[in-house]
Amino acid sequence: MQRCDLHRHLYGSVDPAWWLAHIAGQTVDLSAAEQTYFLRYQRHAGLSELRARQRRGDAQAGSDFARILADAHGASGFEAFQARHDLITWSSALADPQLLRRPSARAAAEIPALVAHVAERGRGEALALMELRVMLPALLRPAVESWLWRLISDACLKESQPAGRPQVRAVASLPRSRASAHWPILRDCLLAGEADGIVAVDFCHREEGQDPRDLLAFAAELHRFNAEHPRLALALLVHVGESFERLGFESALRRIHQVQFQLQPHRLGHACAAGLPLGYLRRQPRQRREAGAEWQRSRDWIASAAEQGFAAESARRLLNAPASPLPSGSVCHDYDQQRLEDVARLAAWLRQELAKAGAIIEVCPSSNRAILGLAALDEHPLLQFLDSHINCLIGSDDPALFATSLPQEAALMAPLLGDTQANALIERREWASEILSGRAAARSPG
Ligand SMILES: [Zn+2]
Repeated sequence: MQRCDLHRHLYGSVDPAWWLAHIAGQTVDLSAAEQTYFLRYQRHAGLSELRARQRRGDAQAGSDFARILADAHGASGFEAFQARHDLITWSSALADPQLLRRPSARAAAEIPALVAHVAERGRGEALALMELRVMLPALLRPAVESWLWRLISDACLKESQPAGRPQVRAVASLPRSRASAHWPILRDCLLAGEADGIVAVDFCHREEGQDPRDLLAFAAELHRFNAEHPRLALALLVHVGESFERLGFESALRRIHQVQFQLQPHRLGHACAAGLPLGYLRRQPRQRREAGAEWQRSRDWIASAAEQGFAAESARRLLNAPASPLPSGSVCHDYDQQRLEDVARLAAWLRQELAKAGAIIEVCPSSNRAILGLAALDEHPLLQFLDSHINCLIGSDDPALFATSLPQEAALMAPLLGDTQANALIERREWASEILSGRAAARSPG
């Protein structure tokens, strides 16, 4: 058995009690995290109080923190998730202002300790391999950024040594808006042989408001780098279609298509919009707003989809659907029954295209359920993906935020898929970044 978690974020993987103990003695400024949490949930997370209780030796503090992290208070959507995730990242060494200027002793201690802790948790889940995504702060000096990538890479390689531990690899999550500016720093670490533990580049965090075309130049550059340096090749991973609260449904689908066919990633993160059943779409607010430019791009895309086999009648109706202009430059869509049925048809066409292209979708059952606000698991996009014969694997995303583990993610879907299929989805070693990027083959003797 080769159980692998190929979609997990380093900081979202901590055991909450471990994290609370870790930050209890640190000087941390929690005001930004507390404020975001309060704005989202209209209540205080109380992390300062929890730290004080932890310092007093209150054994309940850790489990109370775990509850706060995992409790969305019935809210769905990406921002509700992010407000809880910020409680970890903004209390981490990466949020320490000192790091903006120079390597910090705190980061030098935290990252190896965190990677060791997460690797130990992975051992408890019987993982053979885990790929851990890490996003660095946006405004670091290049020398600090380079130092951090080397630190993360070394920590992962070191944790992969002891027998019985999973192989641990890092995935560098770059900022969507400035990928080309950050890439040379990582590239130079790789070329110097100092980032062997980093096996992929990913784009995560907020996807709305960013145009997938912003990544075109970077993606072309990465594919070129891989061709020139196969032994250092990185997989390209992109979170897309995970959140689409400020998009029309057509635009949410178009962006998945754009990412797959223009950027040519090795795996897609989530792509949920492509797998939602009609029942789910019907429960969403009938009126949706998006930027006028998004809708214009989607109209062009629907027209080209019709030339590539999407039902002409549905395309015609979608293109003629009312989109009322608003003074802000946005448009307001009205989704009646007919339009939702046409959207569902467009999603089915997209799934067909993804299957034909051999796309691989990373599905994270608990995370997707919470962020989408699914009424029941039988609405999960994974079911439609599998029915459409798309390659899928299961990852755990942020176990601390969803109170889960990789085996639990498989168990969650087992009643719908059967044990054999659910377990197979957490054993996709052949889709590990090092294999998909060609790095493993380039390094194998002979
Ligand atoms: Zn993710």
